[in-house]
Amino acid sequence: MRMSLLFNQTLRELPADAITPGNHFLLRAGYVRQVATNFFILNPLATRSLQKIKNMVQQELNRLNGQEVNIPSLLSAEILAKRSVHSFLDVDMQDVSDSSSHQMYLTSTAHHYLPDLIQHTIRSHRQLPRLLYQIQPRMLNGRQNRTGLLSTRSVTRLETFFLDKDLSSATQQYQRLIQTFENVFKRCTLPVLTVEFDYQQPKPESGSEFFFLHPQGDIELLHCQSCGYLVNKASGRAVKQPSEPEPFESLAKVHTPNTKTIEDLANFLDIPASRTAKAVFMTATIIENGEKTEKVVMAIVRGDMDLNESKLARVINAWYIRPSSDLEIQSIGAVPGFASPVGLINALIIVDDLIPNSPNLVAGANETDYHFKYVNYGRDFQAKIIADITTVKTGDACPQCNQPLTEQSGFLVGKITSPDTLMSSETGCNFQDESGELKPIFIGSAWLDLERILGGVAEHGNDDYGLIWPNSLTPYQVHLVVLPSKNTDQPQVFAENLYQELQRARIEVLFDDRKESPGVKFNDADLLGIPLRITVAERSLAQGQVEFKIRHEKEKQTVSLEDVLPQTMHTLLGMEREIAQSLVK
Ligand SMILES: [Zn+2]
Repeated sequence: MRMSLLFNQTLRELPADAITPGNHFLLRAGYVRQVATNFFILNPLATRSLQKIKNMVQQELNRLNGQEVNIPSLLSAEILAKRSVHSFLDVDMQDVSDSSSHQMYLTSTAHHYLPDLIQHTIRSHRQLPRLLYQIQPRMLNGRQNRTGLLSTRSVTRLETFFLDKDLSSATQQYQRLIQTFENVFKRCTLPVLTVEFDYQQPKPESGSEFFFLHPQGDIELLHCQSCGYLVNKASGRAVKQPSEPEPFESLAKVHTPNTKTIEDLANFLDIPASRTAKAVFMTATIIENGEKTEKVVMAIVRGDMDLNESKLARVINAWYIRPSSDLEIQSIGAVPGFASPVGLINALIIVDDLIPNSPNLVAGANETDYHFKYVNYGRDFQAKIIADITTVKTGDACPQCNQPLTEQSGFLVGKITSPDTLMSSETGCNFQDESGELKPIFIGSAWLDLERILGGVAEHGNDDYGLIWPNSLTPYQVHLVVLPSKNTDQPQVFAENLYQELQRARIEVLFDDRKESPGVKFNDADLLGIPLRITVAERSLAQGQVEFKIRHEKEKQTVSLEDVLPQTMHTLLGMEREIAQSLVK
């Protein structure tokens, strides 16, 4: 590609909304254009790089006999009601209904269509194992960060499903998929940590999440420096210290004027916050039979702990969750600021698993300026669900070694869920085993967001002057720069021939044939970050040489004219070899 024909514009100025270095250079070099918060257009250069990630993912999955499918992303309410898999929650689903039509949703996953897909094809154990995948654009909810391409709401998502007849064979597929994802990250030279997760509610679910650690990451992780334990804060558990057991005292109402917060209350009664129960009201959107309904949830945690909203959302299978308004709190019979689970008959109450082991707590009395003393779970109130719904904090004890945990941030780039038979049992996805018996199929699933990989590589590979792409992801492999001369057209003629020759050798070349100054051309080359720059200039040409510069190295080298093609191939092969070696380690 000639730069004189390239659809691109590099910028001299720093875009005001580029916060991270990688994103700053992606915008300045013209790879992407931000049109609104977390909405990006991928220009031709970035599209070429994204295509390379896509090819890599397809190559790696095809090695595992993966087969590509294309499943609709649009769902009608009828399909959702009929096909919705209760054990699976589509948190990124978008309501795209309009006033004249039926309710429609844009899904972020093929899960809703999966039972249909499987039931109509898989009948026998001879048809297992199978690995299916698709790569499609997806819209994501809740991307609040403004970190550029890493927080884009529009992603190209690889989604994959693996089917198997028994747990041991399915677990092997799961492990091969982890290896495959790790290979993709290595080929992209993106440092990614594989972190295991394990949820208990609303169904047991475990697997692996893949994080690119970054100070501005949108996911908080907890790290134990002593044993290396690393976990997503949304699902992380810490050791909870139960209160000392003691006999239940009789319930007593006390006057507690102006004590709307736990701190006020604890100070007023001169007790530690751990002797109080905190009521937090959240309004949850739940999908039942294809219809959205809202429910006010009363979550009870000990006063010294905080509610973890994502844990609560998962426990009640909520699509979306937000703090309740005072009106909503009153609608279930509670008094804001003095709310109590005691005597609330029809409320949906969820309590943290530490509450039943915390006797004689102080809780609201559902009456302004009054609290109850000696509230006890079981005797004074009951919950619909008891679960771990509290947030783990810096300094809490590591569940593996009891040492204090510290916080780190990262971006989630992919996830693999361990195989189970929950979905197939629920939807009747069965196969006939060797003895003719019908058995549920083991199903595991995974996803990978390609823009997040691209954004991560840009964050990881840059210096003061611009981006530094690995050979595997660069939009072009060679940046050929010609410095025109006033005295002779020799540099231009030589560079034109070299451009043709490199292309004949199937090397991807970006040829800077513009009438710009050397300064502009070199600045743009550094900004674009193509791994090998070849410069053709009058002076070196007169000595029978051109100049080679590897983007991430300081030193330049001269190469004699007859060696240019072999030396280019040798350099690019060397870069490929380095990546290939990281795969076999
Ligand atoms: Zn530890």
